[in-house]
Amino acid sequence: MKCLWCFKTEIDVTFIKKAHTIPKSLGGQKYNNNVCDECNKYFGEKGDDKYSIEEALKETFVISRKMLYNPKDGKRKIGEFKSRFFEIKERKGRKRLIIKQSFRFNRQFQQRLCRNFKRGLYKMYFEELNRQKGVGYDNKYDIIRNFARYDRGDLPVIYFERSFGAMILFKREAETPILFFDRMEYLFSNKTFDEIEFLSHVFGFPIGDFNENDFENYMHKSIEIKDGLFKNALIIKSLLDIDFTLKVMND
Ligand SMILES: [Zn+2]
Repeated sequence: MKCLWCFKTEIDVTFIKKAHTIPKSLGGQKYNNNVCDECNKYFGEKGDDKYSIEEALKETFVISRKMLYNPKDGKRKIGEFKSRFFEIKERKGRKRLIIKQSFRFNRQFQQRLCRNFKRGLYKMYFEELNRQKGVGYDNKYDIIRNFARYDRGDLPVIYFERSFGAMILFKREAETPILFFDRMEYLFSNKTFDEIEFLSHVFGFPIGDFNENDFENYMHKSIEIKDGLFKNALIIKSLLDIDFTLKVMND
């Protein structure tokens, strides 16, 4: 066995704990056997910011999960909106996400949170990619390892904003979220960029070294195949760029 993240083998590390690819606290039930206990612990451990990478993911997606959840389908209760970072304001039946007061004027905190969210997204992507497709050991993925596991560098994550609130969900998908790679035709991928759909949100990001030209090319092709279904593509700078409360369902 060889760890997907640190390349260490059973000689140096153990592989005893179940490494959930999608946080268990978010309903994830799949795990990756190629993640060593050290790396698994790293993602679940509180960092300098007093939250873990897993929490940065869970405490944000939990809101979309709740919005998509249909109690008639569910076997498990998934609880009320609760997030360490956000609160929901409701007016005339419309929900709006705001950053909790204690963090609202702390720009640095918000930047770190956005960064850790992106790292969490990559963690989930990479472990699921390896689990579903059996790839990931290639050196081309080092940019993912450096960013997600070792907190080095920065990678852009693009959020595609939907034009309509019509999403296709599997029964109980909100309860047990699934990470999709090629489910829909509007998800674009090439050697250097990939796109995923998770809890109805579509994200795109680099998975290997790229230059400005590659990036422009990717954006152009990706937007082209999304053909009216998405109205906007933006590089995430703040978590409020993401429609976690799924306002689009009201329109
Ligand atoms: Zn490892």
